[in-house]
Amino acid sequence: MPSSDPWADQPWPRHGPTCICYACRRRRRRLEREALMEPRRLVDSTQVAEHIDTLLAAGWKRIEIARAARCSPALITKALRPGNGLNASMAEKILALERTTDVRRPG
Ligand SMILES: [Zn+2]
Repeated sequence: MPSSDPWADQPWPRHGPTCICYACRRRRRRLEREALMEPRRLVDSTQVAEHIDTLLAAGWKRIEIARAARCSPALITKALRPGNGLNASMAEKILALERTTDVRRPG
């Protein structure tokens, strides 16, 4: 299962998705290949939709949920429709918001 941030173990800040060094380019190629090879892991959006409803009821806006989960607002809307397939890693990110503090009241 890929971690949420594939660059997390890179100690040097300039390494990352836009870095042009050999190691990063090689890592990007590998990640791209894995993304192509791995069949899309889809999960049912029902649980995610319920969770988004909870967040909305708590005063979150869709745009805030999208920002916090680093996805597009359109994906939030899509997730709210029951029975939709949702990318598994995306679903995890949205469900993980439960354990974080309110984005509008940090700390
Ligand atoms: Zn690099």
